[in-house]
Amino acid sequence: AKEAGGGVYATYDPAMHDALVQRLELADDLRRALDRDEFVLHYQPTVDLATGEIIGFEALVRWQHPTRGMVPPLDFIPIAESTGLIVPIGRWVMAEACRQAVAWGRPLKMAVNVSVRQFEAGDLAATVASVLAETGMPADQLCLEMTESVLLTDTDENLARIVSLKALGVMLAMDDFGTGYSSLAYLRRFPMDVLKIDRSFIDRLDHEGDPLVDTIIRLGHRFGMTTVAEGIENEAQLAALRMMGCDFAQGYLLSRPLPSAAAGELLKTGLAV
Ligand code: C2E
Ligand code: CA
Ligand code: CA
Ligand code: CA
Repeated sequence: AKEAGGGVYATYDPAMHDALVQRLELADDLRRALDRDEFVLHYQPTVDLATGEIIGFEALVRWQHPTRGMVPPLDFIPIAESTGLIVPIGRWVMAEACRQAVAWGRPLKMAVNVSVRQFEAGDLAATVASVLAETGMPADQLCLEMTESVLLTDTDENLARIVSLKALGVMLAMDDFGTGYSSLAYLRRFPMDVLKIDRSFIDRLDHEGDPLVDTIIRLGHRFGMTTVAEGIENEAQLAALRMMGCDFAQGYLLSRPLPSAAAGELLKTGLAV
């Protein structure tokens, strides 16, 4: 920024201006993206660490923008949240993931990410119920992943929302566990089924294991949850997680998120782990 008279810095910053214009343009395009069928899901397998079997997938949304190419979720989910478009987009993601799981024709866990705005807007339980009914997906095969930010507003209203989701029979996962501020209190308060250990903990893991990750796994188990480690990139991390008794794993070492056809193939051949 250029120094203005009187030692005050002018706030006009061309780079910030460009970023804002880009955001507005993306928001505009995002409004039309659902109608134009521009979203696609990629599927990353979840692997049983004891058997090496693929027990399910996490659905991850991508936006095939007509001129910008593939837009990653971190570039448009925040815009979808601030505009409220996350609600219809999130419903589409859930329905598409369920349709795919049913089409694969075998019992599989399908995990979808649910953002705060989706959780707090309208009746998520009613949306989930209608998606299950229209796709024929068994409730206990659908897992909703929520970050701690969803649970951050620890109100009775949010607890009631969690309880009505549980009543449908779907599974609930606490995503990115350990990255928030008061994760421990949530464990007691919210009846979650799955604890996903954030990639930042896995990153610094070597074959010797790690007391913190070991403690998170035990903590999850003590609360009756299954544990999933995300972001496994090397064999040492895989071995350490096996040694520490983690149940399931995801990561580039096992498989990157794949388009549906490739994910279906992988389901047939299995993984060599
Ligand atoms: P997340 O839920 O924590 O998903 C895991 C992210 O880590 C994915 O990024 C995945 O591709 C990436 N990942 C998986 N294994 C590895 C690994 O071994 N190493 C590294 N470096 N990365 C790995 P992606 O697909 O870009 O998604 C980013 C985030 O966007 C997700 O984080 C999730 O918070 C959000 N997101 C994705 N799809 C949806 C959706 O349908 N709805 C909502 N609300 N959020 C979504
Ligand atoms: Ca997730
Ligand atoms: Ca995660
Ligand atoms: Ca994460």
